[in-house]
Parts: sequence; C-alpha cells; structure tokens
Amino acid sequence: MAERPDPLDEIRSSLADLDAAGLRRRRRIVTTPCRPDTRLADRDGPVLAFCSNDYLGLAAESALGQALQAGAARWGCGSGASHLVSGHYAAHEALEARLAGFVGMEDALYFSTGYMANIGVMPALVGRGDAIFADKVNHASLVDGALLSRAELIRYPHCDLAALEARLAASTAPRKLIVTDGVFSMDGDIAPLPGLLALAEAHRAWLLVDDAHGFGVLGPGGRGCLAHFGLASPRLIYMGTLGKAAGAAGAFVAGQGEVIDWLINRSRSYIFTTGAPPALAEALLTAVDLIEHSDARRTHLDALIARLKAGLHLKRWQLLPSDTPIQPLVIGDNHETLAVSRALDAEGLWVPAIRPPTVPKGAARLRITLSAAHSLEQVDRLTDALKRLEARGA
Ligand code: PMP
Repeated sequence: MAERPDPLDEIRSSLADLDAAGLRRRRRIVTTPCRPDTRLADRDGPVLAFCSNDYLGLAAESALGQALQAGAARWGCGSGASHLVSGHYAAHEALEARLAGFVGMEDALYFSTGYMANIGVMPALVGRGDAIFADKVNHASLVDGALLSRAELIRYPHCDLAALEARLAASTAPRKLIVTDGVFSMDGDIAPLPGLLALAEAHRAWLLVDDAHGFGVLGPGGRGCLAHFGLASPRLIYMGTLGKAAGAAGAFVAGQGEVIDWLINRSRSYIFTTGAPPALAEALLTAVDLIEHSDARRTHLDALIARLKAGLHLKRWQLLPSDTPIQPLVIGDNHETLAVSRALDAEGLWVPAIRPPTVPKGAARLRITLSAAHSLEQVDRLTDALKRLEARGA
C-alpha cells in the first residue's frame, strides 16, 4: 500500500508553491507607533506608509493612550471571564450606550473584533433553510459568517440592485438577510444603501451593513454610512469596527433593542469568548469623543483624497472611482503589481500589493489608504513616484 504523504511535507510543498507563484505572505515588523512616518525592522531609514486603516490618525494619539492608561489604573488588565459569566464591566456597558446613542440606534453590543461580530451576528439571525444575499466583493468575514450560519448563500454582482431584487423575488426562504460592506474594503466605493434598504423593506429582509471603513469617516460627526445617507429602519443592523478610524480595537453591532438582546443570547462569538479588557472600553469611550469632534481631521482627509485623485492621472494604471480614503490603483498583472510595490518600497514608500484571491483575477492593485495624519506634500511624494515608475515601465 502506498504510504500517505507526511502532513508536514505537504505543508512544506504548499508553501513552496505559494513562493513560486509570488503569493506567499510575510509579515513586516513595524518598530514605531502607527503613523505615516514608519520604521521597519527589515530596512534602514524611514518609510512613508499608505497602508493603515487609521483614517483619522487616532491610533497613536496621546489622548487615547492616556485614556487606556487611566482605564488600566482603574480596571487592571483582564476582564477575567466571558460577558455572560462575570466579564461584563461598567466600562463595557457605558461604551455600548455611548455607541448606540452616537449612531442613533436603540442599543449596541461590543465585540472583541469585527471579524467576530460578523461571524457571530449572521448565524444568530438566519440558519438552515434561510437565505443570505451578499454582494460579490463583501469582506471575507461576511462570507465566513454566511458559511457558519448554514443558510443558503446567494451572491449578487457588485452593487447591482436589479440583480439583487430578482434573487430576492425568486427566493422562498422564510428568513432573508441582505449583507453588504458599507465602504468596500478593496474598492473604496460606497454601497447603494438607500436602494438596498428599500429592497430589504419590500422583501421583509434584514439588512446588515458592515461599516468597518465608514465609521468615523463618513456622515455627520463620523457617524458612518447610514448617517451619510440619513437612513433609519428597524430592518437595519449596523456593524462598526473600532480598530480602524477609532484607532484602537474591537467592534460593535447596533440595532433594535430586541435584536441586541437576541445576540446576547445567541451570538456564539460573543458568548464563548473572554470579554475584552475593560480598560480598552475606557479608551474607546475617548475614541468616540475624538471621532465626534474630528471635523477638521475629516476635512483634511477629504483634501488629501482630492489631491491624490487630481494628481494621479496615469496612462495604464487606473484609480478606481472612490471618494473614500481607500484609493485602489489597479495595475492588473500580479507580478507587475508586486514589482511596483517593491519599487515604491525602494523609494521609501509603503503601499501593499493586493492580489487574487483577495481581488478578482487580472485586477491586482495597490491599495492606497490615506489618513488625516498624512500631509499634502506626502501625497504628492507618492503621486510623483507612481508617475515616474509608470513612465519607466516598472
Ligand atoms: N469587515 C471589513 C469590511 C473589514 O475590512 C474588516 C477588517 N479588515 C473587518 C470586517 C474585520 O474587522 P476587525 O479587523 O475588527 O476584525
């Protein structure tokens, strides 16, 4: 009988395959706090980063660090248990009330990460025999949440309301859930939320909006993509993350009070995990205050976005249409995209190459992200370098 391959040998050979295809991922070690002027363990000298999701530049803001220290002085470090046992503290409760009020919902639930929120919410809302309608380019955590729920996963072409309507009309599932990114993480465009909500209401479906990239950035006071469109409805469930514009870590789900109560009872990634450190919840209360009073940062961010879009007219490489801090420059070929990212690196500019399967085949891109911590001159540096590289045929 032929011997089965050693499982470790299989992993070694799969890693070699990834290497050969230029798809092996490696982490880079950052040795400075999160800010545009970055230092890395693998290179000498500073590098200017255009890759974080720290859209308002709050991650290294001293007021947040101080709030975390004050929180640690009051609460110590760990929560000691899951929320339903004894790990739910006054700081968590206060954060949830503040977030619910901020986004104009009845109640909110604080999760340790956005990934956990998505994989926890979807199986609590729908199950076997039900249907989930998902935009084709939704974030991976929404795909995983759909798979965990065991509901039928029906995908519709990106932002295509007519295609979604046809799929909703054809479905006889007893419970329907529409899920979408608010701001698409690899494209930067904003979902057609008014149209999606109208469809949800017409078909008695839930609409779950993952606003990881809009919370803190879009809408009055940074209240997010629903506020941007002025939308409210009992059908809406809003998920915002706290590790991007809020500069810390975690996420929250907001909606009707009964929906939040149901999640407390049924959301497995909430129930079966240790509560996040209460000191972090204290820091996040400060983060919400900072977000609310960050109009100047958002205005500056808009100016940076406008500057990049006005300056970056290239012949072969194209910026996708986006008005958000996510500005993807589509190059197409995987190897060329990687080569451009490396050439930028050699010039002290850090812009990651995003390749399939994260984006469709033939649509490899540089994912440029802007932060209020950037200056106009720094954006110009990136634009100039990209123009030179394209002309040189990098
Ligand atoms: N949803 C989207 C659209 C995201 O981009 C991300 C993070 N990359 C998440 C959810 C997950 O959030 P977190 O990083 O807090 O787990």
